[in-house]
Formats: sequence, C-alpha cells, structure tokens
Amino acid sequence: MSVVDEIKQRLDIVEVVSSYVTLKKAGRNYKGICPFHAEKTPSFIVFPDTQSWHCFGACGTGGDVFTFVMRQENQDFAGALQLLAQRAGVSLKQRTEADLAEDKLKKRLREVVETAAEYFHNLLLNSTAGETVRSYLAQREINQETISKFQLGYALDDWQALGDYLQQRGYKREDILAAGLIIEREDGSGHYDRFRGRLIIPIRDERGGVVGFGARALDDSTPKYINSPQTPVFDKSTILFGLDLAKGAIRREGLAVIVEGYMDVLMAHQHQIANVVASMGTALTEAQLKLLARFSKRFALALDADAAGYQATLRSMTLAQETLTDRVVPVPTPGGLIKYESHLDIDIRIITLPQGQDPDKVIRENPALWAELVENALPIVDYYFKAITSELDMDSPKGKAEAVRRLMPVIQEIGNAIEQAHYIQKLARLVRMDERILLRQAGTKGKKAKSREVEREELPDREEFTFGLEEYCLSALLKRPHLLQSLDEVLRDVGVDGLSADDFAQAENREIFASWQESLGLDLDGLREELDPMLHPRFDLLLEGPKGAPPLDEDKAEKALIEGALRLRQRKLKRLVEELHFLQADAEEPGGGTVEEYGQMVDSYRSALWGISQALAARSLVGRREAAPKGIPGLVA
Ligand SMILES: [Zn+2]
Repeated sequence: MSVVDEIKQRLDIVEVVSSYVTLKKAGRNYKGICPFHAEKTPSFIVFPDTQSWHCFGACGTGGDVFTFVMRQENQDFAGALQLLAQRAGVSLKQRTEADLAEDKLKKRLREVVETAAEYFHNLLLNSTAGETVRSYLAQREINQETISKFQLGYALDDWQALGDYLQQRGYKREDILAAGLIIEREDGSGHYDRFRGRLIIPIRDERGGVVGFGARALDDSTPKYINSPQTPVFDKSTILFGLDLAKGAIRREGLAVIVEGYMDVLMAHQHQIANVVASMGTALTEAQLKLLARFSKRFALALDADAAGYQATLRSMTLAQETLTDRVVPVPTPGGLIKYESHLDIDIRIITLPQGQDPDKVIRENPALWAELVENALPIVDYYFKAITSELDMDSPKGKAEAVRRLMPVIQEIGNAIEQAHYIQKLARLVRMDERILLRQAGTKGKKAKSREVEREELPDREEFTFGLEEYCLSALLKRPHLLQSLDEVLRDVGVDGLSADDFAQAENREIFASWQESLGLDLDGLREELDPMLHPRFDLLLEGPKGAPPLDEDKAEKALIEGALRLRQRKLKRLVEELHFLQADAEEPGGGTVEEYGQMVDSYRSALWGISQALAARSLVGRREAAPKGIPGLVA
C-alpha cells in the first residue's frame, strides 16, 4: 500500500475537517460554512462514504483529505503529506541533518566539477597546448559539433594547473579533493592534479549535470584511460555515459544500445544515432539497468566479438534481468481460476560485431552496417548458442559433447522455466540427443527460483498499482503533452471546462497532474525532480504505461485519451449529482432557497452530462465504423 493510501485509510475525513470547520450532520453527510470563501449558509459538504468534500458555493471545488489540508494549511503536497502522516501515525522517512549536510556537499562538488569541465573545454578550444588534443580528435574524425555537444576538454600537462585555477576561483581545497580532481601527496606536502596531459571527457548524470571525468592518454602512456574516483557525486556503477543526450531517443525508439567506450558514444551521436550509451568499461550493473529501464525496456548490448568470459556476462545479465522484471502477476485461466505467473518484460539482446571491430569504427566507416547489426541483435541465449556452436564441429561426437558441456550451464542460468524448456529443446535438436536426458541434467543442476520473494520486496508499488481511468489519461498526457489542447477543445465544445486537477480523485494523480500543468516547459526528468520522491514510483509506472497495451499510433492515442477524459469528467459529474440528491433530500428548509439552488446545480450538471454522453456516443460510432478496438486498449476498468 502506498503511504498516501495508508494515511487515507487511517484517517477519517470528517474528523480531520472537523478540527478546522464546525460540521453539522445532515443525513448521511456533514455540512458547514466553507473555509475557503465567505458565506452565510453552509454549502461546504463532507461525504464520509467517499471520504471527499465539495463546496457547492462560490468556490465549487472539492477533493479528498489531502486537497483539503493543502488548501486549509496552505501547503504543497509534500507539506500536507508531512502533516497527515504525523496525524495518522504513519512514518515518512525523515530527512536527517546528516542528509541535508550531504546534499549541500554534493551541490558544492557538482559546482566544482562543472567549473573544471568549463576550464578543460576552454583549454581544448583556445590554448596553444591544446593543439595536441585538437589534432588527436581530428584524426579520430570527431567534429566540432561533437566537441561542443559533449564539452570535450584538455588537461594541461602540469601538476598544479587545475588545482590552482579552482582555488583562485574561490573553491575550497577540501571540496576539490573530495571531487577527485586533485590528489593529496603522500608526504603531506600538498597536492597535485589528477588529470594531466589528457583528453578530458565530462561524464554527466541523466539530467545533464557533470559528475566526473574520463581522461584519455594522447600518447602510449598507460593506463589509456583514467576516470574520476568514486566521490559523493560520482559512482561509476550507477551512471551511463551519454544518457543525458540519449534518453529522448531511447524513449522514442524504445531501444537503448549499450556500448563499452566513450568514443563509441561520441561517434554514434555524431552520426545521429542518438540512442547509444556507454557502460564505461565495467560490466553492466543492476543500478545501470534500472536507470535505463526508466526510458526503455529493450536493450541491445554491443560486445566485443572476441570478448572472453561470456558466461560471467550472461550470469550478470540474467540476474539483472530477473531482479528487474521477474514479478509474479495474476493471470486468469480458462477455468476461471487465477494463476500466478512470472512475467519477463525486459528484452536484452546482443549485437555481434565483426571480428576486430568496435562500434566507433563500424559507425564511422559504415553507418548502414551498424543499423543492420542492431536490427539483427540476438536474444542472449541464442547469441551464446551461435557463438559456441560456431567454434565447434557440430558433426563430430566430440563437438556435440562439447556443445552440451558449454551450453548446459548457460541454459541453467535461465530463470524462466518455459524459456529454459525451449532452449533445452533447441539444444536437443542441435546435438540430436534425447531431450529427457538433457532435462534431467538441467533438473539436477538447475537453480530455480524461490528466492524471488526478497527481490520482489524492492518493488512494492508495482503489484498494487492498477491502471484505472485516471492513470490511463494521466499516462497518455505525460507521454503526449500536445494532446491536452485538442482534449480541452473537445471538452469546451461539449460546454464544460477543460481538464483540471479536480478531475482526478486520487491525491497522487491529482498532484502529478497539477505539477505537470505548472511545469509544461520542463522535460519529464525535470518534472520528476519537481515531484515529491514519494511519487516517483507512481510517476515511473505512469510513463511506462499500462501493461500489455499495444502501442498506439498518434491518431488512436488521441481518440483514446479524449474518450478517457470524457469518461473521467462524466464520472465526476455523476458523483456530484448523486451528492446533490442527498443534499436536497435533507435540506433543512423545504421550499427555501437552498433546495432551489441545489436544483439548479443538478440541472447544470445534468446538461453537462448529457453533452458528454452525446460526445461519447458520437465517438463510439466513429470508432465502430473504423473497427477500432472497443473501449480503451490496456485499460483495467
Ligand atoms: Zn467554498
């Protein structure tokens, strides 16, 4: 259960509102003088059944306990969350003093690193000494646009240059040290620059802030590359080089291509192949995959053709795949039972490069070949089948035995039983051996999944989150913000207001919608950053969209969204009419003004409802003629 749900469950809206407003029982509901506008007769109503409130007077707004406290206490969502959590006795992870100090340190370090990046870049562009690196880049065919896009730089071949410069700029020595830019001398006699006489490649986080550097030697000196050390802002295992520039393309194309080196990324982006990121020399980590999974669930890895130790790679990949995606979901069976099955929705493939080539070279010499290689990327296990059998003589008994010996461990790493069975079949056919013998072998050694419980704990929100109408509309809008305009036009044609936060009954959805509306200039990551971290899991799931829904083209997406929004408004108006009926029924003064006003309101809501149902009917006729799928694809009603 989300914290917000837990709070709502523990608190009674009548009790919360009563601590600010004097409420009087009226039938099943409660009424009082609206705290948000001046009035003499009460038109502010609290509905215990739906745990909501509505003002039928001048403000005409309403909501749940969260919106009430936000307005009443003049708080943002985070503030209301704090207040209500306290009231409900639900603990929010409080940020401690130490966390705040850490935040400040990180902010300072980011500034130092950012300044260093500008300094290096300026040296590359303008210094005489920078000529060595300029000619090196020219020889690697890296153009001017790429140099400025990635803010490439040059570190002087000097022991003090950067340290001195940053101190002159007013940065504290301990911050420069903590940012990994200088190194303390062992004898305590001072410090020296970490990067000297090298090409500098700034490494940015996914939001585009510089957090560290990769530095390449310009001659034969070793090591060829040095990186920033681990610092409070730089953790190599959680960052992917180029993601800040690649994330848009990854999202659009639904595919992230992962390469090994900086140069591969530079060359890809230079050729408008923008969905490419680098793992910076290490094996891909789970944290990196999780980060990428925010943008796409399909990955393609470009590994060296002669890469050894593929079994280790496979093991780490399959493990990552399992922790990332293997969750158990209920599936209805034909007999009406519910069965729980594991679902894999991450797709990791391997790109096979021609012998002795790297992505940098392929893209530079033949971009069309690159596209073809990506297109032909193989699922991991198929890749190993191909790689291993291509080295063996599959006609000889010795070759077959060797294939079994090497492929069985690979097959045993597969967590999903159905997939595993498929590959055992494939192997059996390949070596012309009885499947059952192989199966027995797999069964004795196969390490199968029961240990998933622990891993699933980490994704608590996933299983509880159902895609309802609200989530569907919100998700569609986040992904296609330009549709808001046509949606609002349709609503206005019907004679009602455009979509507003009030249309969302769920406090979290309401908050995400409101923040989104306020920040239309921001990209999705900017918006995410604006949101309370408590809302991040929901936000990520909204961006993913409903499970199993087919991708929609622009036209269908627009239709589905408009229909969804019309239904959303319909639902809200119906609820209001129902609430007004209750109010009319227990109005204190029969024949008095109040009842009449309520009656007028009901009439206006009814006419709006009529307009909406007309619009929906017209749309469904259009939809039927085009044989569009009925209702909204992927929507759990
Ligand atoms: Zn009011």
